[in-house]
Amino acid sequence: MAVPKRKTTRAVRDARRSTHKVEAPSRSVCPQCHQPKLPHRVCPECGYYDGKEIIDTE
Ligand SMILES: [Zn+2]
Repeated sequence: MAVPKRKTTRAVRDARRSTHKVEAPSRSVCPQCHQPKLPHRVCPECGYYDGKEIIDTE
């Protein structure tokens, strides 16, 4: 098994982890009901995607 030759320093380890922050998911606006929704997802408000009703919402 491949083994690291040297211990990763705290500075290198923490610099690597500095890119691991999670960000809030991006939003788009539903063209049907104009509510914010996740892009490339069926709108949870009206159930439409690509101009067609995909899921039944009350
Ligand atoms: Zn909608």
